[in-house]
Amino acid sequence: MAQISFEHVSKTYPGGKAAALTDFNLTIKDGEFLVLVGPSGCGKTTALRMIAGLEEISGGTLKINDRIANDLAPRDRDIAMVFQSYALYPHLTVADNIAFGLRVRGAKPDVIEKKVRETAELLELTEFLERKPARLSGGQRQRVAMGRALVRAPNAFLMDEPLSNLDARLRGQMRAEIARLQRLSAITTVYVTHDQVEAMTMGHRVAVMNRGTLQQLDTPRQLYDRPANMFVASFIGSPPINFMEGTLVAHQGGAALSCGPLLLPLGSHAQRLSAREGSKIIVGIRPEHLKVAPSGAGPGTLSARAAFVEDLGATLLLHLDQHGITIGHANMVDDDRDLMSIAPKLKALVDSAARVVRDDNVHL
Ligand code: ATP
Repeated sequence: MAQISFEHVSKTYPGGKAAALTDFNLTIKDGEFLVLVGPSGCGKTTALRMIAGLEEISGGTLKINDRIANDLAPRDRDIAMVFQSYALYPHLTVADNIAFGLRVRGAKPDVIEKKVRETAELLELTEFLERKPARLSGGQRQRVAMGRALVRAPNAFLMDEPLSNLDARLRGQMRAEIARLQRLSAITTVYVTHDQVEAMTMGHRVAVMNRGTLQQLDTPRQLYDRPANMFVASFIGSPPINFMEGTLVAHQGGAALSCGPLLLPLGSHAQRLSAREGSKIIVGIRPEHLKVAPSGAGPGTLSARAAFVEDLGATLLLHLDQHGITIGHANMVDDDRDLMSIAPKLKALVDSAARVVRDDNVHL
């Protein structure tokens, strides 16, 4: 079991234009499932490879169980890594692939046999033990790769986009499977992805990264409801959050946001923001916090045309032609559908649950 800490860690690759990691601080708790998420090139893989001992650290300290690990050889860390490509041995059977790490460490044959059997049962691979990887599906290969890592109960698991080669259905299944296995084994797991759905559904906590820095470390729910800045607000959530810029004005004893023709009530934030009258702020509103209202609805409404509509089944997404706003409308009733087809001029009613997010420039 392991607790892993990055303390002021930096990384500059030789010849690299920008630092891959800058003053990176993060503590992964013992037994935790932590997801590193962020756009391509933000430094996720670099951080993961540092934990494995595969990447030199330019500055700062990496600790594994309070022991400085900057220069610890990979084999002395007892950490298992699962790659995107699975890295299975094609000439070995599933059983031999799973057993490989134990054999290399000189485990006794009867111990190997028992552990391979137990691991195969856990991963529902028993019937495939004598097959070669070429005769397995993508999901089965993925499970063999997991089995290879799981069989030797390492200090920690590191996973680098392990599901990115799978189709959407299998990805959904394996997402749940990996989360289940992690809960059962309670082995510290660091999981790298650029897929925010994986991040939100799998991690106990999620570290959102951008340009080599940590933007926010929090539970999925907190990231969604209380993003620390505009980057996190826009990266987490699909369809993405709507941003509206406006000026704070006095309204019914509190503040409202004046944004073109729209006077946006600020819900629970109204009182707190009343002292900031006249300031420009940016408000973030999740698509599901906006509603379609009939024509002529009162204050807090905005007239807009639906530029295009996406029907996702359970949700209907209306993309408005003003402010780039998207409305996510769950369980749209027939009346609303009529309203859309008959009268494309829609009104977006801003729900009182509107959320205010912190602008990078304005500190709320
Ligand atoms: P992705 O999601 O695309 O895999 P990532 O978030 O994992 O990206 P890293 O692979 O950690 O990002 O890369 C971080 C930065 O460091 C990028 O700008 C990348 O171009 C750079 N980088 C990574 N490896 C090297 C290397 N060996 N030499 C030079 N620069 C590198």
